[in-house]
Amino acid sequence: MKLKYPEHPAPADATAKKAVRPVICYPIEGLQQPDLSTYRAARVGWRKAGEVLVPPREARCFEVAAGHFFRIVSVDGPQVGDLNLWSNGNHAERFFSGKTRALHGTHVSTGDRLWSNLPYLRPISTITEDTLDWYGFDEFGASVHDVIGTRCDPYTHRLLSGDDYHHCCHSNLTRAFAVHTGRSQREAEPFIHDVLNVFMCTGFTRDTGQYFMKATPVRPGDFIEFFAEIDLLGALSACPGGDCGAEHSSDIATCHPLLVEIYAPSAAPVGWISPQVNGYRGIQTGLQP
Ligand SMILES: [Zn+2]
Repeated sequence: MKLKYPEHPAPADATAKKAVRPVICYPIEGLQQPDLSTYRAARVGWRKAGEVLVPPREARCFEVAAGHFFRIVSVDGPQVGDLNLWSNGNHAERFFSGKTRALHGTHVSTGDRLWSNLPYLRPISTITEDTLDWYGFDEFGASVHDVIGTRCDPYTHRLLSGDDYHHCCHSNLTRAFAVHTGRSQREAEPFIHDVLNVFMCTGFTRDTGQYFMKATPVRPGDFIEFFAEIDLLGALSACPGGDCGAEHSSDIATCHPLLVEIYAPSAAPVGWISPQVNGYRGIQTGLQP
């Protein structure tokens, strides 16, 4: 946060410096844009290939084959979910929330891609429908489905409160990933990464730039739908914050389950090819340090 009372005086040209117009750091016009019409055409005649119900304050894993879809569906009541994704064949490749944010903004919706970490950096999933797209940004600058929050975790909770809480999303995701992959929890923990905050309504305060949350507008029946660009392993935690309208990292909030539905289309989207990992090879072959 910035000092309320700066220690250094503003220079004479401070107003002009502040008036410089911003430029987008990562213009994405050059990126190949997903053709939503072909993705959506592939949904015609699809069949439901499976579903996983994520209990409140717990997490569960699910697998989605490349070319298939999955939905995260609100059931019973307003609930936020913390999503991790890995390449199912290589768990070292995983969702990169920071670069996804740099490319698509603080909150994602239909047509945005979820990107993987370096050195892979490829779209691992494409958002093909979002029933909360009507929300846009509100008067507080908040929106839904953020890639700015990291995930609630017991270490930050202990730092701020001195208490121990064992059902933070980080812990839930660790346990689910460990069970699914046969790793110990100690081995599993480093694989847990910054999340997509599904349905969560968040922003930054205008005066201090602090991360804030407010009750999610999600209602039963709402969903966000993804297309798996590669074979995916997912883990979803039904956050102990429930609708995240008051607090998280406790047993106080009312929590609900979340449903993951997996759909297999009868044929892949026309012209679709599963993306290759990023083509840059300079570090391995080129410059010496
Ligand atoms: Zn959480």
